[in-house]
Amino acid sequence: MSEETTELSFVKRDDISETFDANLKNHFNKLSVTFSTTFNPSHITECPRRIIYRCNGVKPEFSITQREADAEKDLLLKLAIVFRSCKGIKFHNDNLLVSDCNYNIVGNLDFVIGIKETLLATKIYSVENEMFQKIQEKGAIKKDVIEVMVYMWLIELNDGLIVYENRSSLDHISFHIKPYKPIIKSVIKKCRKLVEHEMNGTIPDRPYKTKENSECCRCEYEVKCWGK
Ligand code: SF4
Repeated sequence: MSEETTELSFVKRDDISETFDANLKNHFNKLSVTFSTTFNPSHITECPRRIIYRCNGVKPEFSITQREADAEKDLLLKLAIVFRSCKGIKFHNDNLLVSDCNYNIVGNLDFVIGIKETLLATKIYSVENEMFQKIQEKGAIKKDVIEVMVYMWLIELNDGLIVYENRSSLDHISFHIKPYKPIIKSVIKKCRKLVEHEMNGTIPDRPYKTKENSECCRCEYEVKCWGK
């Protein structure tokens, strides 16, 4: 795939939002997290040590329930129906498996849709009301933007779409994503280092001095990493 990208741009696109207004009233749930020896685009901004624990099959200290996993599958099916029935949207793929063996990346992209002449790598996120308000004020979450950019790079699309749904009100907001070369370069660099750790059987150093930070506090390997 090409590493060619253009300028960073993730701005609200009213025309796309309006297209969704009449249709996206289904309730979205958070997409599932799977554990494997490969790197998933949804984890790519995480602590490298956490990624390697996951790749090594270390048992997480907590995980999503079967009920949540089933709900997530239902969600994808529901949204596929929504997109297929949306006027002005051409539905191309759902749950598209994408990978790159050079960098050991494997992930499932929610949808590829076409709006007018533009193909968009699309990810859907369900967020709490407080987070939704923040997104409305400040824009898309960086982690999600990077995830979508990675998918765009993997499938060689120059456009991406993030749709957030407010879990309480079912309101939604969408962001049109354009690629940004430095981000893809840094993802590649990170993946190369992770592959080295996998091959050498080593664990990356902790990127934090203490566990009093937001990532460690929600990390499923906190006890394994820091001890009790
Ligand atoms: S506890 Fe913190 S440092 Fe350790 S793996 Fe998790 S995020 Fe990384």
